[in-house]
Parts: sequence; structure tokens; C-alpha cells
Amino acid sequence: MHNLILFGPPGAGKGTQAIKIAQKYNWKHISTGDILRAEVGQGTPLGLQVKAVMEAGHLVSDELLIEIIRSVFLKNEDAEGFVFDGFPRTLNQAHELDKLLCRLNHSVKQVLSLEVDEEELVKRLLKRAREQGRVDDTEEVIKNRLVQYHKHTKPLQQYYQDKGIYTEVYGVGGIDDIFESLCKAIRK
Ligand code: AMP
Repeated sequence: MHNLILFGPPGAGKGTQAIKIAQKYNWKHISTGDILRAEVGQGTPLGLQVKAVMEAGHLVSDELLIEIIRSVFLKNEDAEGFVFDGFPRTLNQAHELDKLLCRLNHSVKQVLSLEVDEEELVKRLLKRAREQGRVDDTEEVIKNRLVQYHKHTKPLQQYYQDKGIYTEVYGVGGIDDIFESLCKAIRK
């Protein structure tokens, strides 16, 4: 089972590229942001619980995220691989993912990090706010999301570098060119 984490800050293009990778390799795409947004949209108890946190650009609790991932695994036991998009976002989540995969006799094979400078990120996030009306893409919340990324998520780079499974891929340019760079890194 090929488990790949698509890593990077908000606005790096993880969602777009994760969908393309999942399609090409027949792996299951797991976007925790999409899962949570669907819960909020449907007004489920979980959605009601996380709505305010998401709208403020903060991170939802590790416990809830682990539970979500566990249930996705259970529903997709026959998947050939997973592309994680937006997960893990904290060291604790990374440890729990390792434990969960280990129990299933699997592991994270690769972490591909999309490299995009901060100015470009903010530009993209503001554009997305205009086009998609995502409530967590206002200027204030964008700032918060980037702070959360630097504080909680960026340290994961070192964690995966130490495991020897971390590769950086330049994330600025045409969608298909970036996709090709990612596929090249996957083939290695
Ligand atoms: P995303 O679409 O990946 O940018 O996620 C949107 C929002 O969902 C984030 O700003 C968080 O509030 C929440 N979220 C998504 N994934 C996670 C995660 N792995 N850990 C904590 N919160 C998350």
C-alpha cells in the first residue's frame, strides 16, 4: 500500500494536486479539510463542534482528526494507497498516523512538500476567497492559518526528513508542470 502525504502550507495547491495523483495512481484521496467542511455543511454534531474553530483558522483537535482518519481507513481497507491532503498537521497527528498504519502493517512511504513562497500563498488564498467564498479565506483568517502552519505543521518537515522520506517539489507554475514534478518524485 502506497501511503503518500502531500505536505505544504494553506494555498500551496495540495488539494488540486492530490486529486490528480489519486486519479493517476488509483489511490484514495483523503482531504481532512473537505471531510470537515462536509460535516459543517450538513450540520452534523461533529460539524457543529468544529465550525467556529475552522472559521477562525485554528486547528481542530487531534483526537477528532485521528478518529476521522481511523474511520476512513476502516471504510477503505482494500485501497491500493492513500494520498493525505491536509493531514497530519501536528506532530501528535503524525505519531498517531504512524501507529495506526503500523497496526495495519503499513507505513508512510513518501512525503512530498509543495514549496510556495508566502507572498504567492496569500495571493492564491485571497483569489480562492473571491472565487469559492470559503469563509476561512478572509485576510484575517488567512494570517491565522499561516501562523498555525508555522507553529504546528512546519515542524513535521524535520520529522519526515529524519525518516528519509521527505522530498521538496517546487509548487509555483502551471498545474500540469507541478503535477509532472510530483509524479517524477513518486517514481523515484
Ligand atoms: P484545509 O482545507 O486543509 O485547509 O482545512 C481547512 C480547516 O480544517 C483548517 O484550517 C482546520 O481548521 C481544519 N483542519 C483540516 N485538517 C486538519 C488537521 N489535520 N488538523 C486540524 N485541523 C484540520
